[in-house]
Amino acid sequence: MLEKLRHRVVSRIASRHVAGNKLQDALKICAWANSRGYNYILSAWQNGELTELSEEDKNKNMESFISALTSVKKNSGNAYLSIKLDALGYDYALFYELLEMAKAARVRLHIDSLAPDSCDTNFRFLEDTSDYHDFLGCTLPSRWKRSLDDADKAIDLGLSVRLVKGQWEDPFNKIDSRDNYLALAEKLAGKVPYIGIATHDKKLAEQTIQLLKGKQDHFELEQFFSLPLNGISLAKKYSVPYRLYISYGHPAIPYNYRFAMTRPALGVWMVSDFAFHFKKPWAGNGLAH
Ligand SMILES: Cc1cc2nc3c(=O)[nH]c(=O)nc-3n(C[C@H](O)[C@H](O)[C@H](O)COP(=O)(O)OP(=O)(O)OC[C@H]3O[C@@H](n4cnc5c(N)ncnc54)[C@H](O)[C@@H]3O)c2cc1C
Repeated sequence: MLEKLRHRVVSRIASRHVAGNKLQDALKICAWANSRGYNYILSAWQNGELTELSEEDKNKNMESFISALTSVKKNSGNAYLSIKLDALGYDYALFYELLEMAKAARVRLHIDSLAPDSCDTNFRFLEDTSDYHDFLGCTLPSRWKRSLDDADKAIDLGLSVRLVKGQWEDPFNKIDSRDNYLALAEKLAGKVPYIGIATHDKKLAEQTIQLLKGKQDHFELEQFFSLPLNGISLAKKYSVPYRLYISYGHPAIPYNYRFAMTRPALGVWMVSDFAFHFKKPWAGNGLAH
């Protein structure tokens, strides 16, 4: 009974964090971003709770990635595609096929980070496909101590990097995610083709921008479309490009709600996510969801 209720609450909150079920829903926000001069990231989300994917599931997910890639190529604006490798059932053949398409379309394919136990597998895929490094990116979560070593791998492989605090805790170490975020930025500065400063922590974003200025040619501020867009003014202030991450498909929560007991603000955000329909700028006179 309690579990059912929890599931309903979580599902309702999660639905706020996808543009809708379909690619068309996300494309409306992409068009809004483009009209404002913002770059964007398109991400088709699949059900990450399935442990075993059938061939049919994998192929369906692959089709949705191909549709997203095709639309990124077709639509105007500066965009790249984010995917989670578990949605392909960690199938090398499918990943290669998608990379070939990304290369032909000259669109970057970015690998989102998942739970810590998937990280070695993600890097194995990135190492095995390093010939495609111009079109490949990885995510480094600052909550994990290992990300400092993974940053060396990203540098050696010539990958674009997105820096996040991360949704999962380090299973072995107590890490200050803000200090480690800045340490990662310092380590990567000037050594990778691109750094995405992906955070809604405005102070941290500003410190990272200041750290990268003059050291890193190409970096941008990246924010999640459904969380407060509090980086727009910051991006303007420092003349840094602003990029929106736009997800659609299977609903999920882009922050770790399991921390709510230790982080009271999260509880407040969840209640407002549950109870209110905030009007978003791209929704015109209507509501965001
Ligand atoms: C572009 C992008 C890509 C990401 N990709 C990944 C990924 O691949 N893997 C991964 O594990 N994580 C990813 N994340 C999620 C990220 O790791 C964090 O879970 C999330 O961004 C919150 O951390 P924060 O750095 O924004 O800091 P926080 O300290 O959590 O938030 C900073 C501030 O943002 C505001 N805020 C944040 N969340 C809410 C909310 N729900 N409601 C109201 N206000 C809020 C508050 O003002 C808060 O003080 C991504 C995030 C972004 C922005």
